[in-house]
Amino acid sequence: MGTEQPPTTVHRDDLAARMDPAVPDAAAAPGPVAQQPVTALTDDLLVLGLDVGGTTMKGEVTDAAGTVLAAGVVATPQGEAAFETMGALGDQLLAELTDDQRDRVARAAVVLPGIVDPVRSIAVFSSNVGWRDVHIGDRFAPRWGMPVLIEHDVAVAGWAEWRFGAGRGHDDVCVVILGTGISGTLSVGGRLMRSAYGQTGEYGHIPVRHADGLRCPCGNIGCVETVASGASIARAYAKRTGHETASAADVFAILDTDSDAKAVVDEAISALADGLLGLIHAACPELIILGGGLAGAGSALTEPLHHTIAERLRVVPAPRVVLGEFGARAGLIGAALFARQGALI
Ligand SMILES: [Zn+2]
Repeated sequence: MGTEQPPTTVHRDDLAARMDPAVPDAAAAPGPVAQQPVTALTDDLLVLGLDVGGTTMKGEVTDAAGTVLAAGVVATPQGEAAFETMGALGDQLLAELTDDQRDRVARAAVVLPGIVDPVRSIAVFSSNVGWRDVHIGDRFAPRWGMPVLIEHDVAVAGWAEWRFGAGRGHDDVCVVILGTGISGTLSVGGRLMRSAYGQTGEYGHIPVRHADGLRCPCGNIGCVETVASGASIARAYAKRTGHETASAADVFAILDTDSDAKAVVDEAISALADGLLGLIHAACPELIILGGGLAGAGSALTEPLHHTIAERLRVVPAPRVVLGEFGARAGLIGAALFARQGALI
């Protein structure tokens, strides 16, 4: 997730699926309801976490302190073959443990892109990896000999940053993952907001440039992503100057010396602020946490975003804007924490 997204993004999967009448209705899909343990594991037990991205999948076995006892990264094959690779990666990590450690691995969590139905343990759809309606829990639980939870990667990463990372101790927190796409989570009153679909936080597709905006792959005009995603920043700089840059990071790197770079980044921050204003008025988060690849820009992003938001607010307080603590590992760390807690609570 985050920095490691392929050119199309998690939430574009979701949108494509919503617009595709051929996508099966998860609510009507047959199959047993997955086991949903909600009891946190004791500290002597270990967990297996897998974070499946569009290009690579990462796995770790960790203890209660987060110490990594086994780790692996493999390429994500296209299509349903990805699930056999997930199974094999889990097998490999479990095989690397001592007998005593292996006996203490009590639960696993697999976090996936696209549309995920965690209640029925179904990977409903991913256009990135190319799967539809794959039942997960039944595949891995007998193979690994433990309960296996599944969840959406951004939901888990945002929950982890809120509960255990930069947002810990706060009840009202918005996490924004900025990368190829833009999405995140919102926690209000100490609860992570989820919809009946399990989806929330599609911040990248809030339209903010109605009059002169670019067309978004979702079909709308002027979505936040068309201005503020990594690819959009690089593209806007190239269009303005005629000079191609490899990435948005290159544009941020020359902010202080290049007025075109500053203008492009200012516009991206302005669009992101516009997109966040509605939810700030609705939910009054005390903290906005930035994660994903673009968060590597650090204070060049957090300070002007806070300033821009503060300038536009009159009746609600401006939230602080900070960087996430887990960086590109938020999905993997989140998978382990989710396995340990048993629920996104
Ligand atoms: Zn859009």
